[in-house]
Amino acid sequence: AKKAVLGPLVGAVDQGTSSTRFLVFNSKTAELLSHHQVELKQEFPKEGWVEQDPKEILNSVYECIEKTCEKLGQLNIDISNIKAIGVSNQRETTVVWDKLTGEPLYNAVVWLDLRTQSTVESLSKRIPGNNNFVKSKTGLPLSTYFSAVKLRWLLDNVRKVQKAVEEDRALFGTVDSWLIWCLTGGANGGVHCTDVTNASRTMLFNIHSLEWDKELCEFFEIPMKILPNVRSSSEIYGLMKISHSLKAGALEGVPISGCLGDQSAALVGQMCFQDGQAKNTYGTGCFLLCNTGRKCVFSEHGLLTTVAYKLGRDKPVYYALEGSVAIAGAVVRWLRDNLGIIKTSDEIEKLAKEVGTSYGCYFVPAFSGLYAPYWEPSARGIICGLTQFTNRCHIAFAALEAVCFQTREILDAMNRDCGMPLRHLQVDGGMTNNKILMQLQADILYIPVVKPSMPETTALGAAMAAGAAEGVGVWSLDPEDLSAVTVERFEPQINAEESEIRYSTWKKAVMKSMGWVT
Ligand code: ADP
Repeated sequence: AKKAVLGPLVGAVDQGTSSTRFLVFNSKTAELLSHHQVELKQEFPKEGWVEQDPKEILNSVYECIEKTCEKLGQLNIDISNIKAIGVSNQRETTVVWDKLTGEPLYNAVVWLDLRTQSTVESLSKRIPGNNNFVKSKTGLPLSTYFSAVKLRWLLDNVRKVQKAVEEDRALFGTVDSWLIWCLTGGANGGVHCTDVTNASRTMLFNIHSLEWDKELCEFFEIPMKILPNVRSSSEIYGLMKISHSLKAGALEGVPISGCLGDQSAALVGQMCFQDGQAKNTYGTGCFLLCNTGRKCVFSEHGLLTTVAYKLGRDKPVYYALEGSVAIAGAVVRWLRDNLGIIKTSDEIEKLAKEVGTSYGCYFVPAFSGLYAPYWEPSARGIICGLTQFTNRCHIAFAALEAVCFQTREILDAMNRDCGMPLRHLQVDGGMTNNKILMQLQADILYIPVVKPSMPETTALGAAMAAGAAEGVGVWSLDPEDLSAVTVERFEPQINAEESEIRYSTWKKAVMKSMGWVT
């Protein structure tokens, strides 16, 4: 059959905590043409530890690229139309590898990992109360969440890492850096870089000067020579190099020209380019980001200040306020893998529908402590309000409700910090396929929830950044050229009073989850 003629295409790697995807878009219409997804393992070697294998992450990327190219072939689409590749990734997760062998020196320490809790406590004591320079430079509270303390742990505890640093062979990176280095040739000339959004999650990056910060590196005792070069989110970093793992050199020579942490990518993919526009992504965790334009806004209510994007070397940087919730989809995965009350994540919808209420049961999934707005590492998960009547359906319902309540807490904080309440919530992410969850969310927020009909906004954002890069120029970010997004809306159906009662009981449950670890 004759190959279909199309405009330029752009690919995007979406490397998340629970899975990896590769997706190919038509740059003129933003239409998703084909994709492939591979679920990833997470290892929990000790209580509170979360690791992933960097090689498995890399191989999942290769597999997704290859399978997507095969699918495009079946659609008679010529893969030589792919003009650029963007990368979006789980943020903060920390990898250290050997630049001569290309081998990781330890597993990736995942953002959710809590092993650095004692490091965080002892470092906190060294920050003067009247001069929190870490917060003012990075926009972040000192927490186990960010890369600097994970890297500190690796330098303190892994002999292979120490040796490689001494021998000048060690490279550090978040997952974007690891992937771009490997995809551009690895030990044979791979490019060691990251973008400003990912850098802003390391706790070593000054979000005002947009550079690695010497004082912070000294504070965390991080050798600056192992850090990647920081680039904008949209420029050519390097070209795809043939790899023995990538059959037939699919995409050899295609520029990698977009890079954004997943939450920033979703903000771009949801076209939140204006001051005050916000989106909430429901994946492993839940992340509400509000564009604050070119101003760095500091929160009074437990939100983070972070780099939203910088779409080109000579383009301005945009900032965001972020509400981060550690556990959202992960609670569904926990019900599946640890309790076995569902076999697949989407089965939770059936259970929840059967009862339509939690019957007074509340589930606070503080598995990794509580993030925004509490930042309480001593919290642990609780299920409370149980009676003899409670069954697995109620617990499933309570788990979904927990995701909605946590979002309500960060939305409230956002509204207080921004002074202008959001009138609707734009959403995306794997969990938004769940219609009960979306309706519950509208009920609990008491504002409409709006979901794009093409849900892969994270990948779309990375593709847009890659396609718009100087020297690629196949995607226009001019608002006039961006196609209107078709959406599905969920309107609040219960009354505000009922919603408030449920929310205040939730808050009581949250208080009970705190102080479990001393
Ligand atoms: P990430 O980007 O963090 O890897 P995704 O956006 O891919 O996450 O979403 C996957 C998460 O969403 C998983 O934790 C999964 O349990 C959850 N999930 C997927 N489908 C559903 C569903 N229908 N209902 C509830 N949760 C779901």
